[in-house]
Amino acid sequence: MSLANGRSYLAIPGPSVMPDRVLQAMHRPAPNIYSGELVDLVASVVPDLKAIAGTKHNVAIYIANGHGIWEAALANTLAPGETVLALATGRFGAGWAEMAARIGIKPRVLDFGLSATYDLEVIKEVLRADTECEIKAITTVQVDTSTSVRNDIKALRDAIDEVGHPALLMVDCIACLGCEEFRMDDWGVDVMIAASQKGLMTPPGVGFVFFGPKAAEARNGLNQISAYWDWNPRANPDEFYQYFAGTAPTHHLFALREALTMLVHEEGLENAYARHKTLARAVWAALEAWGKEGSIALNIADESLRSFVVTSVNIDAPNATALRDYLTENLGVTLGIGLGMAPSGSPEWHGHFRIGHMGHVNAHMVLGVIGCIDAGLKALNIQHGSGAMDAAVRVIAEA
Ligand SMILES: *Cc1c(COP(=O)(O)O)cnc(C)c1O
Repeated sequence: MSLANGRSYLAIPGPSVMPDRVLQAMHRPAPNIYSGELVDLVASVVPDLKAIAGTKHNVAIYIANGHGIWEAALANTLAPGETVLALATGRFGAGWAEMAARIGIKPRVLDFGLSATYDLEVIKEVLRADTECEIKAITTVQVDTSTSVRNDIKALRDAIDEVGHPALLMVDCIACLGCEEFRMDDWGVDVMIAASQKGLMTPPGVGFVFFGPKAAEARNGLNQISAYWDWNPRANPDEFYQYFAGTAPTHHLFALREALTMLVHEEGLENAYARHKTLARAVWAALEAWGKEGSIALNIADESLRSFVVTSVNIDAPNATALRDYLTENLGVTLGIGLGMAPSGSPEWHGHFRIGHMGHVNAHMVLGVIGCIDAGLKALNIQHGSGAMDAAVRVIAEA
């Protein structure tokens, strides 16, 4: 029978759950876009965004999703024909490289597979061999949302410094900004990108490019740059409209203001990071219990490499699709598809799913998802170990 009526939970890794307060902040007439409240509001979100990024440098705000922000970051740092070293630890690292190729930049992809972080020795070897410094930038993701691996950005910086290579370090934090620690300036990151719809609890449609002095210099050295993507006027506008190269995304900004108030000023970043970590540990505990029998397994075996915002799960096909369908239709919870883990349409594609636990999530939501997956496994007669709920509850109770 269907038990899906009631508040549904989209437990996919973005767009994430939006707080009622964020939704309500948008429920109002359009403001004047030339002066007054909106101008003050934008001035107030900039320092909060920089605080989350851990930077005292620049942020440019775009009306765009993550793909747009990928292009924005590339368009300001590399000219067509120049080379970017793209570190792939899942679909998103690879996707950024594909975007580079589409605008004439030459991506050199180092692919580290679908269940591991990067190998710093391999990266150092490639950088050492680049004696002419053809590699102008290195792109990577902090959390690859497809595999749910978390890459150690500070360690990557140290490796680049060890070799003494001058390439810019550009990091995609779209999945995890606001949920997992990130320190742009302390970690020596030149460009960091984020978007509104994941950890930042705001509807999809606004993205951010943070950039430091070395990246600013690269931008100023380009012969030509798209007028729309140019980050200079957006980061340091003379007139208000230049923040957005036109009309401001008025209602997204109301939403963002409310979300930042909740995250930065009420909960506080450290508390938000700790909440995500504990909730993630509850999810892993459940998965480890299920995995004692049958085929269910965490995609990232090494706990220290697992993201706190999304968990990728492998299971014999076609049980991932069966489970997802059952949960959506009968229980009111929607799990994420297994993005990039197998070719879409192949039989193996039905052997992967993801649980999103980013942003506006708390203990009862995560325990609810775990309980629903447990019910789905039982209803569908999918073999699994017992005690998952108990294991998850213990993590929460001991936190
Ligand atoms: C979601 C995501 C993207 C893509 O964002 P879109 O808004 O879907 O274009 C890119 N990188 C990472 C790490 C993501 O999680």
